[in-house]
Amino acid sequence: MTNSSITRLCIIGATGSVGSSVLKVCRLFPDKFSIHSLCAHKNIETMLSLITEFRPKKVLMTDHSAASELRSRIGDSCQIMGGLESLEELATDSGSDQIIFASSGTQAITALQKALMANKNISLANKESIVVAGPWVMPLVRRQDQLRPLDSEHNAIWQCLRGEETKTVKRIFLTASGGPFRNMSLKELEVVTPVMAGKHPVWKMGQKITIDSATLMNKGIELIEAMNLFELHHSKVKAVVHPGSLVHGMVEFTDLTVKLMASYPDMTLPAATAMAFPERLDMSRISLPEFNLTPLNLCFEEPDLVRFPCLGLAMEVAARGGPYPALLVGADEIAVESFIRGEISFMQIATVIRKVLESYSGKDPVDLEESIFILEWARNKARLLCK
Ligand code: NDP
Ligand code: MG
Repeated sequence: MTNSSITRLCIIGATGSVGSSVLKVCRLFPDKFSIHSLCAHKNIETMLSLITEFRPKKVLMTDHSAASELRSRIGDSCQIMGGLESLEELATDSGSDQIIFASSGTQAITALQKALMANKNISLANKESIVVAGPWVMPLVRRQDQLRPLDSEHNAIWQCLRGEETKTVKRIFLTASGGPFRNMSLKELEVVTPVMAGKHPVWKMGQKITIDSATLMNKGIELIEAMNLFELHHSKVKAVVHPGSLVHGMVEFTDLTVKLMASYPDMTLPAATAMAFPERLDMSRISLPEFNLTPLNLCFEEPDLVRFPCLGLAMEVAARGGPYPALLVGADEIAVESFIRGEISFMQIATVIRKVLESYSGKDPVDLEESIFILEWARNKARLLCK
């Protein structure tokens, strides 16, 4: 931190859905946050408008040609870096106090590792990274609350656990809206299209996580994310469907007290809590519908693992550990891409992932490099299966 009370941010994934929630918080509280650096893959138009508005000192486009074009369009007004190889440099730059990991995919894994080693504060939305790298990056966390979960359910659990000891946790529950197909039969699910899967009933998110929410794989990935973040055995981490999407997470303690964390479903709220910790910001500055709990919107259901087999697969993976989390993430990424391109059906997403999990006969990863190698193996295997 600098002497002033302003937190200087580096936002990785600035042009995306979570990135826009983070930037909304920055707009509301210019006295609390300044933008040191921004990173995206290749969305030049959005980045140009962010540069004009926030005047970052450094910008990284991980796509080289996007970086060159951006350079030619803005001249010397800020330093434009290009290529994924510069991500670690950006995430460890001494000019930023807090790094927001809000990119999609797994390309920021080693940058996350290096940012923790550099003792940066981190707000983490990118769940794929922690699922693949958890066993190797979590031991790098030096201070309580150095790693602040931004994913809404994990942010909720994190808030419930404040002032509590992990050994007193009996179970945690992550809520799922149930996605757009919650009430569909298996027969109907066979023929749903990418356009239908792309319409989430509650959250407006990037394309990959929206499809993962329709298959419930998002909740499965989140179970493993929670095991890593809160160091919990898989038997203590549960998913529950809550269509009202007002309760985001619950913790049951050994004395059978249950804490629920609830708020209006808007990613700006968990973003603000993570970014400003330990302070609570005055978020009444954004106009959100009034928070209103009624018996009607406080319903919970068991997830149906027959209609949503991806969640079952992720639960198996959570129990098995070893290479399986990386296999799951890699296979899901490719299967979802193939579904979006119309190459496989919605229900075949789970079939492809199961086949990838079953066909792995290698050893357990002993370090992060090996886990990333297994992730790549799963991608290649899934590509073959989707052909
Ligand atoms: P989006 O698809 O909306 O945005 C992705 C962002 O990542 C864009 O800024 C994109 O840049 C950038 N990006 C893509 N590839 C790279 C790369 N190799 N290096 C650097 N930046 C890259 O995704 P979301 O915002 O929906 O999700 C981001 C992450 O947060 C995911 O891991 C998701 O699971 C998680 N998450 C999302 C939530 C949500 O509400 N959306 C909620 C909780 C977690 P460009 O635009 O140039 O392609
Ligand atoms: Mg979530």
